[in-house]
Amino acid sequence: MAEADLFQPMDLSALNSFGLAVNAEHYFALDRPEQISTVHAALKRQKCLLLGGGSNFLFTRDPEEPVIAMRIKGITVCEDGEDVHLHVGAGENWHNFTQYCVDRGYGGIENLSLIPGQVGTAPVQNIGAYGVEVREVITYVDAFDTQQKEMRRLKKKECGFGYRDSIFKSSQKDRFWITAVGFQLSKSAPVHTAYGAIRDQLQAEGVREPGIADVARAVIHIRKSKLPDPSELGNAGSFFKNPVLSTERSQALLNKYPNAPHYPASDGFKWAAGWMIEQAGWKGHRRDTHGVHDRQALVLVNYGGATGKEIFDLSSDIQKDVEKKFGVTLEREVNVYL
Ligand code: FAD
Ligand code: NAP
Repeated sequence: MAEADLFQPMDLSALNSFGLAVNAEHYFALDRPEQISTVHAALKRQKCLLLGGGSNFLFTRDPEEPVIAMRIKGITVCEDGEDVHLHVGAGENWHNFTQYCVDRGYGGIENLSLIPGQVGTAPVQNIGAYGVEVREVITYVDAFDTQQKEMRRLKKKECGFGYRDSIFKSSQKDRFWITAVGFQLSKSAPVHTAYGAIRDQLQAEGVREPGIADVARAVIHIRKSKLPDPSELGNAGSFFKNPVLSTERSQALLNKYPNAPHYPASDGFKWAAGWMIEQAGWKGHRRDTHGVHDRQALVLVNYGGATGKEIFDLSSDIQKDVEKKFGVTLEREVNVYL
C-alpha cells in the first residue's frame, strides 16, 4: 500500500445521516488492523476525522483533514455458562449486531435495537435508549492510541462513561481510534420494560412475560412509528442532550411548570429537552429546506438541500429560546464539524 495512494476523494453525502452534500478531499476506508500504522504514518502528524456511520454528525462544511472510515468487521463469541463474551469489530453495524444477539438469546442490548451507526461508535457517547446504556454491557474497548502510537485495551472504568458521554467524546476526543469492543451479555438477563412506551406496546400485543425478542420487537415498532428514518428524511436523532438539573433548580421550575416531564438522575433530575423545545414553540417549525420534526422536537431534519450551517443556526436559535424561557442551556449531543 503506497502512501501516496492511500487517501482518495470521496462524496460523503451518503455517509452522513443528515444527507448533507459534503466532500472529503482525502478519504480512506480502514478495514484491517494491520493498516493502522501505515495510515497513521501517512497522516504525518496531521489531525484526521474518524467516521463510523455518520449518524451523530453535522458537517457545516467540507472537512479539511483526511477522513478515516472505520470498517473493521468480525464477531467472536465465547459462551461461559449463562455468560456470553463477544469481541466485535468497530465497523459492524450496530442494529445488525443487536439482532444477531437477540436471535441467539443473548440478552442485554435488545433495548438498543434500531439505533443507527456502528459498534465502534457505541462507546463514544455511551448510546442509550429505553432505560439501558451500552456501558452496562461493555467490558473493554480496543483502540489505537495516537499519542502512545500503540494499540491499547481500555477497561470499562478507564472509558469515563457518563450520560451520553465518555472520554472518547470529551476529555480524550480524537485521541483513540476504536477498532473493537468487548461485551458481556447473558442468556438469563432480566428484561428492561420500565419505559412507559415499551410497557404499553407489550400490553397492546398481549405479551405478559416478555423475553428479549419481545422487547426488541416492541422497541423497533415504537421507533419506526415515532422517529424519522434517515434514509427518507435526513436527521441525526436527538440533536440535544436532556439537561440534568439540581434538585433546587428542578423544584423552582416545577413551581412554574408542574406537569413538566422529569426523571430522577444521579445528581438531580433529568428534564426532557424535547418537551422544553416544544413548549418554546419549535415543534414542527420549518425553514424551507430544514426544520424541527413534527413528532419529536428533539430531532432536527433536512427536508432536502439544507446546508449544515443552516441546521446549526437553527439549533442555536432553539438554544437561545429555551434559555430565555427556562434559564436552561441545552447542550448539543450531535458532533458538530464547525
Ligand atoms: P458517527 O456519527 O460516524 O461518529 C460519531 C462520533 O464518533 C464522531 O465524533 C466521530 O468522529 C467519532 N468516531 C467515529 N468512529 C470512531 C472510532 N472508530 N473511534 C473513535 N471515534 C470514532 N443515539 C443514542 O445514544 N440513542 C439512541 O436511541 C439514538 N437514536 C438515534 C436515532 C436516529 C434516527 C439517529 C439518526 C441517530 C440516533 N442516535 C442515537 C445517534 C447515533 O445513532 C449514535 O450516537 C451512534 O452511536 C453513532 O454511530 P455512528 O457510527 O454513526 O457515529
Ligand atoms: P420519550 O419516550 O418521548 O421520552 C422523552 C424523554 O424522557 C426521553 O429522552 C427519556 O430520557 C425520558 N424518559 C422517558 N421515560 C423515562 C423513564 N421511565 N425513566 C427515565 N427517563 C425517561 O423519548 P423518545 O424520544 O421517544 O425516545 C425514546 C428512547 O430512545 C429514549 O431513551 C431516547 O434517549 C432514545 N432515543 C435517542 C436518540 C438519540 O439520538 N440520542 C434518538 C431517538 C431516541 P432518555 O433519553 O435519557 O432515555
